[in-house]
Amino acid sequence: QQQQDDGHIIMFPFMAQGHLTRFIALAKFISQRKPNTKITFVTTPLNFRRLQPTLQTNNICLAELPFSSADHGLPPNTENCDSLPPHLIATLLYASKALKPSFDNLIDEIIRAEKRVPSCIIFDFFFGWATETANRVGTPSFVFTPGGYGTAMMFSMWLHSPHRKNGDDSKELIEEFHVPKFPDACRLHISQLPSRLRDSNQEFTTYAEFYRMHISFSQKSDGMLCNSVEEIEVVGLEALRNLMEPKPVWPIGPLLPSFLLQGNQNKNNGCVASQSRTGKEFGISPESCIEWLNHQKPSSVLFISFGSQNTISAPKMMELALGLEKSGKCFIWVLRPPSGFENTTEFKSEWLPEGFVERMSQTKKGLLIKTWAPQLEILCHRSTGAFLSHCGWNSVLESLSQGVPIIGWPLYAEQPYNSKMLQEEMGVSVQLAIGNEGELYSEDVKNVVKYVMDSSQGEEMRNKATGIAEKIRAAMSEDIDEAGSHQKGSTIKSIDDFLANVTSKK
Ligand code: UDP
Repeated sequence: QQQQDDGHIIMFPFMAQGHLTRFIALAKFISQRKPNTKITFVTTPLNFRRLQPTLQTNNICLAELPFSSADHGLPPNTENCDSLPPHLIATLLYASKALKPSFDNLIDEIIRAEKRVPSCIIFDFFFGWATETANRVGTPSFVFTPGGYGTAMMFSMWLHSPHRKNGDDSKELIEEFHVPKFPDACRLHISQLPSRLRDSNQEFTTYAEFYRMHISFSQKSDGMLCNSVEEIEVVGLEALRNLMEPKPVWPIGPLLPSFLLQGNQNKNNGCVASQSRTGKEFGISPESCIEWLNHQKPSSVLFISFGSQNTISAPKMMELALGLEKSGKCFIWVLRPPSGFENTTEFKSEWLPEGFVERMSQTKKGLLIKTWAPQLEILCHRSTGAFLSHCGWNSVLESLSQGVPIIGWPLYAEQPYNSKMLQEEMGVSVQLAIGNEGELYSEDVKNVVKYVMDSSQGEEMRNKATGIAEKIRAAMSEDIDEAGSHQKGSTIKSIDDFLANVTSKK
């Protein structure tokens, strides 16, 4: 019997851990919904090798595009943002344009071999030029983005520059302003802006050109897939639809491992997933981490992590450590060398207060993990009570899916917008700091930590986060009711609608 053919989807993520993770999860979600869809996941040689053990399945295959980092002024063998110091990430962004001719060739080869065009190309925002490839061969293209609110703010800010007089990039900054396409009540203060938008130098102009070009590609594509949930980002998704009009926006998130979506049973005993999920080496075994958490009281531990590649400055790291100690709370902290040092630099005890490491180990107050922690296992443990996060979108979804409130410390990109939404729209977060600018005192750290973890307002934040976790689970649910009709949560409806749309055109 001939197997049903549900077409062939090409997926093309940018080479950064958060982007790859999101695309891998989408590939697996599509495979689950339409097992007869073939998926080709396109990336560069080193990422190819890293992903091969986890990704290659019967219907997902990997394709490799040649890329030599050294040809673009990057250190040899650096094909992923997490192996680059922050100041070189823009170089990788611009260099990735060099992938276009080989991406074009790959699509042509697929068409020659299969004697038909692929069903669609799902591309990363940073590979907007993939829409040109799609148009050339006559297949639809869709951009895949993180959260609705953060993406909509990012689009609106770069396109309209409402933070400058008359929207002119060379003009002075305005202190408080309305963000176009958002409701009138939505105001942004300059202190909430990512630092990049506050400059008006050559670097700013280059970024502005780059972002505007890619936003325009996204708007010209056939629609957007967004790693979000209709019910939790009402304002953000409406703004995004205004910006993408008349193209559709499908919220198909949260793309999270299934054990995070299973509800409260995990909260009791913790759970251990395999290390191979990201291909990264943990600074502690998940089992030891859970063992440490098992000895703590429910909701008593603060987890601190700044994502897959970010770090804070040395003075801020010192104040954070002092503040944590003053708060008296138990914590798990993913430690990286401060900004200005390579991520691979050996961690020096002088970056922390004298005797801090020994005190934390003796009192068992703080678990310090070098470089990479089992974040999902920590967030889904019942002892974890709050998350001090840079508000990267994957971290936000992972935390909210477990009902864990957030202390925001956004660093760059759309993180400040995510932090604003978490605080102002959702009421599940308090922002402690932004970027590495300005002063931060240990007293501020202590006060915010105690506010979120001890006060009745903190309890309220936890309740709201729990409500969001329930909405997330409902969006992912699927059931046959007593009358025999198929009930689908909003995300399931959305992905099925998207797939029906593209695979019907195969
Ligand atoms: N992560 C992890 N362990 C760490 C740090 C990060 O597992 O020690 C994972 C985290 O669970 C999340 C991703 O890395 O899935 C970070 O993505 P996010 O969008 O939050 O931030 P980005 O790294 O893109 O800035």
